[in-house]
Parts: sequence; C-alpha cells; structure tokens
Amino acid sequence: MNRPPIINSKLPDVGTTIFTVMSELAAVEGALNLSQGFPDFDGPSALLERVQYYLTHGHNQYAPMMGVSTLRAAIAEKVLALYGCTLDPLEEVTVTSGATEALFCAIAAVVHPGDEVIVFDPAYDSYEPVVRLQGGVTRHVPMHPPDYRIDWDQVADLRNERTRLIITNTPHNPTGTVWEATDIAALRDIVVNRDIYLLADEVYEHIIFDGRQHESLCSDPELFARSFVVSSLGKTYHTTGWKIGYCCAPRNLTTEFRRIHQYVTFTSNTPVQLGLADFLHDHPEHHQELGGFYQAKRDLFCEFLKDSPFDVVPSAGSFFQLLGYEGFSNEKDTDLAVRLTKKAKIASIPVSPFYEIDPGHKVLRFCFAKDDETLYQGAEILCSL
Ligand code: PMP
Ligand code: GLN
Repeated sequence: MNRPPIINSKLPDVGTTIFTVMSELAAVEGALNLSQGFPDFDGPSALLERVQYYLTHGHNQYAPMMGVSTLRAAIAEKVLALYGCTLDPLEEVTVTSGATEALFCAIAAVVHPGDEVIVFDPAYDSYEPVVRLQGGVTRHVPMHPPDYRIDWDQVADLRNERTRLIITNTPHNPTGTVWEATDIAALRDIVVNRDIYLLADEVYEHIIFDGRQHESLCSDPELFARSFVVSSLGKTYHTTGWKIGYCCAPRNLTTEFRRIHQYVTFTSNTPVQLGLADFLHDHPEHHQELGGFYQAKRDLFCEFLKDSPFDVVPSAGSFFQLLGYEGFSNEKDTDLAVRLTKKAKIASIPVSPFYEIDPGHKVLRFCFAKDDETLYQGAEILCSL
C-alpha cells in the first residue's frame, strides 16, 4: 500500500501569527482594525510617482542580488548622516524583501545547532521560529509594565559560552519603549571579548518621540563590528505592502548574510527599489519629519482616550500604543482582544503571545498609524466600553 509521507513538522507548536489572526477576525467581524501594524493612508505621492515611472519605463527585470546601487548608496548616505557610520554600499548594505527577510538571513547566518540566542520578551514573533529552524535555542529575558526596561543583570546571568546572538529591538514593538544610552553601555559590557553577535531590529528608527534619540547600533563602532542592523522602508515610507527592508553589517558579516539571502529571495522588486532610491535621495525631510508626524497621532489618540477606562502611558516610539485594562476587566488579553473585536467592533493585538511565559499583564496593543478620523472612531468605541 502506497501512503504519503508523514509530516514531521519542524515547528509543530507554531500556529498562525497573531497579526494574521486578528486582522482576519477584524475583517470577518467588520471591526475597526487597530491590530496589525500598517498605515491606513498611502505613501507620499512623489514616491508613488517615481515607482510608477520605473514600472512603465522598462525597469521590470531582476535587480542585482544585493539591491540596486542607487538604493544602497542612498541608505549608506542616510546612515552616515544620522549615525556617523561609514558603510561601503557595495559590501556592507543589502536590500531585502522586508525586514522580515533580513531577520531570517541574519539569524541563519550565525546561529548553529546548539547555539543560544537571547531575546527580550515581549519579543516580535519573527525571531524565535527562525532560531529554532537553525537548531538554536532562545533564552528569554522578560520585561514588565509600565516601563518595560531590560534587567541587564538577568542578561548577564543567562549569558554563557553557548550564547551566540542577542536580538535587540528599539523603538520596541509591541510596547513602544525606547532604549537609552545606558542600555547601549550595558550591552557593551555583556558582549565585550565574547563570540556574541548582535541583531538590531531598528525598523521604527525614525518613529521616536518627545526629543528622544534613537540608539542605533550603527552609532557605536565597537558594537557595529559584531552587528546586523535591520530596518524597513515599509515603515518609514508608509508602504508596508512593498516589503522592502535592508541590512547594514560589516563586510565579513555581510558576506555570510548574502550567502543566505541569494538563495532565499535572490533579490527584491526592481521598480520599487529604484523609486525608493530617488525618493530617499530627493526627500530627506520625509524621515526627518516622521517622528513629529507620528507623535501628533499618538497625542491625538491619547487625548481622545483620556475619558476611557484604560490606563495610558504615552508610547515613546513606534506606531503602537499600549492600553492597560486592569481597571475594567480581569480577562486574559487574548480573550479580551477577541471579545472587543466581535462585540465592540474594534481589533487590537494581545501582548501575551510575545512572551515565552505569559506574565498575565493586562494590556492590549493598538496601532495609531491611521488617519485622524479613524483614530477618533477607535477612541469613541474605547471610551464607550
Ligand atoms: N520587526 C518589527 C519589530 C516589526 O514590527 C516588523 C513589521 N511590522 C518587522 C520587523 C518586519 O518588517 P517588514 O514588514 O519590513 O518585513
Ligand atoms: N509588524 C507588524 C505589527 O507589528 C505586522 C507585520 C506582520 O503582520 N507580519 O503589527
């Protein structure tokens, strides 16, 4: 008797990502979707025009494997201007299909079976499955409300000779917290003279509020020498659906990164890369003004919520706002998120799925990358609960 192979899953306990679960539920329930993080407005018209130009002028074949040269040059220029880090666009900048692909390639480049990777919970959900696919193990350092700071003593306790990688994320998704200079100093102490690489998820690098400064690992030459620094043009240019990101890393790490990238996607969408390159070059004011743009939305959303039953600690960065609901419900966050989507017609993201061990915090994440009218509608629902 012939039978099909029995599937031996590499990730048997991994379900569908919470972002898809909540966005699909919002669609089915006709709920206002403040769950998955994406803007409900378009990217700048000058950017759309540049992409349209390349799309209709014969630029529709494969781009170079590491990304088009104009985009890599524009990224290197921006990183130098912002963080004082000189990058060779030919050997230290790689364009990827979203930050997600860059995270995958960086983890796959350095994690071997048995290696340990330190992550900070709540941790963005793309990290752990990729570590496990390499035969690695994640070690989790939990962070707690209201400030969600890293306990560096705990990191020092977890670190050992198997520790190969630490994954950092500032501004942080899902909590909206931001690293301070003291975090960089603590990280330096943790890795000094050890075979530990760093993967910095900096996709919200420009979305930072109240005069804070983004602590990029590109700014610290010693740390950068062991780092993959990842960003996402989808976040910065309101075009998450284009899935263009990039990875900056020193030459030796970029070589390993590209060994994998060339067989994961080989390259990314050509006309979009070319259009983004022109826009980055011609409109540096866009990323310079992005913090102010989103800060105004954060302020509006928080102001609208001042008579709501939620606890609001204004987000320090990213386009997410955590709302504490201890004052009005004892439900588990996953249950409340589903109930609010079905009954109140507003969708959010529960935070417990981003923890190894659910600490039972009573918070939900709301995305404020929305038109002011959408934010008003959302707040109206939340105030009526
Ligand atoms: N890291 C974090 C922290 C994110 O929030 C996201 C996406 N929202 C990504 C990585 C992935 O970015 P991209 O859409 O460019 O793949
Ligand atoms: N990063 C986005 C968020 O936090 C979602 C991206 C995705 O759905 N993978 O909501």
